[in-house]
Amino acid sequence: LPKDLFSPRRNSAGIEVGDRRALGSLIAERRRTRVERLEARCEAAAAKTGGEPVEIVSPVDGGLLGTSYHLSSEAATALVREAAAHCRTAEAVPGPRRAEMLRKAASLMEERQAELLAILAAEGGKTLDDGIAEVREAVDFLRFYADEAMRLFGAPVELPGPTGEENRLTYRPRGVAVAISPWNFPLAIFTGQVAAALAAGNVVIAKPAEQTPLIAAKAVELLHQAGFAKEHLYLAPGDGRTGAALTSHDLTAVVAFTGSTETAFAINRALASRNAPIAPLIAETGGINALIADATALPEQVADDVVMSAFRSAGQRCSALRLLFLQEDVADKILDMIAGAAKELTVGDPRELSTDIGPVIDGEQLAMLRDHVSRMEREQKLRYRGEVPADLAAKGHYFAPHIVEIDRPEALDREIFGPVLHVVRWKARDFDKILDAIEATGYGLTLGVHSRINETAHKVIARLSVGNVYVNRNIIGAIVGSQPFGGSGLSGTGPKAGGPNYLVRFAREQVISVNT
Ligand code: NAP
Repeated sequence: LPKDLFSPRRNSAGIEVGDRRALGSLIAERRRTRVERLEARCEAAAAKTGGEPVEIVSPVDGGLLGTSYHLSSEAATALVREAAAHCRTAEAVPGPRRAEMLRKAASLMEERQAELLAILAAEGGKTLDDGIAEVREAVDFLRFYADEAMRLFGAPVELPGPTGEENRLTYRPRGVAVAISPWNFPLAIFTGQVAAALAAGNVVIAKPAEQTPLIAAKAVELLHQAGFAKEHLYLAPGDGRTGAALTSHDLTAVVAFTGSTETAFAINRALASRNAPIAPLIAETGGINALIADATALPEQVADDVVMSAFRSAGQRCSALRLLFLQEDVADKILDMIAGAAKELTVGDPRELSTDIGPVIDGEQLAMLRDHVSRMEREQKLRYRGEVPADLAAKGHYFAPHIVEIDRPEALDREIFGPVLHVVRWKARDFDKILDAIEATGYGLTLGVHSRINETAHKVIARLSVGNVYVNRNIIGAIVGSQPFGGSGLSGTGPKAGGPNYLVRFAREQVISVNT
């Protein structure tokens, strides 16, 4: 296996993977960035909205990073009212101008990359590779939705009609768009939702996860700097109560949500119980993602892709691999390779270049992972236990990779958001049962198939309703525009982020027929 398992395969920062000098200056600049500078701005915003100040603590070393604030339910309600008053002026901004501002924001993010990386590491625990990939994704979203805005909102679509009649389809904004994002991609997902809603001409209220408001504040600052008016884009830091107030308001016209399936259900209920026009919910949620490897698969490739899919970003990706199905004949060989590679991974401070796996986001996640592994150890078979060096464990929320062999797929009955891989052995005669078990989870986000038999891959693809299927490769890191991302079933509503159908959901259609 290659030694540097997590080095980006695609050039994701405008830097060649082997270009040490460019990478070195980026790292030096990132080191010089002081995250504390964000504090003043958050306090100023808190004073304006009447929010409750909260301290933001780093998962890396428990250091105080700055102060954010939680918008009270009353303040969130008032914010939706205020936002609604600016919908007309937001719509008046022409599509091409919106696209221009999105492109400008993309360039600003590229210019400020080192600063963004510093915040992502300190606040989100992101390693350099993960940070670079995340900034790249945010930039890609901005440019992709700018292009989409030109395609969809630049000019009306002329439709056929009888002589003497003109028919045109136009897309108009919905009004107030509420965007609610998770902590695990606090820049890319946050920016993607906001960019799409702005591209369609809405007034946007964006609520980041309570763990990661500082990077969100920076993204909003850059979008304002790029030209978006303050009254067309609001940051609403807060907790679940803030989100609940925003999504249950009668004037909220569309909600883009990424997070857990349970929260998506709660938002769906809140929207449905309003006595207001029906507002669409775009929900991208969790998954119990599987990868099936048969005896014809290339063992080294399987091991490499499994390590990348299960452990990169400390397993804190919605797309991450949770359930690995290994055909009995090759299971021991591949498991040994995976455990051997896992042992080589360095768990550490994400600001160090040698670190492969940074911390998990907070003490709650860490406790959940420890509980889960203890239960698995009692009830199933722990195949590999990674260790966190004692000095590191005392500093922050670190959890090393673990591999558990389970006797049946149902033993993993919920999404475990961290670097824990569950492995099930299967015999050729049980192939259909595996597919039944994956289907029975009700989720459908990502799925991997490793086989050199084409029919096997085709059978799996035809049989399972999963949003993103990967054949003979890893199952993470979808690329905007090339691999539109999103699941089905309990994993989300679609349309897929970074795909050709996403923006339309943020708009309403209008047809104008004129008798000429
Ligand atoms: P979460 O607990 O559902 O939180 C997501 C967001 O919803 C946060 O901003 C949260 O605020 C807010 N929220 C909580 N309760 C709310 C309510 N009643 N009404 C409105 N908003 C509410 O999810 P998470 O733990 O942050 O993120 C991890 C989950 O996200 C995993 O399940 C993962 O699979 C999923 N995810 C999915 C995708 C995808 O594309 N499919 C991508 C990334 C992550 P607070 O943080 O302040 O509580």
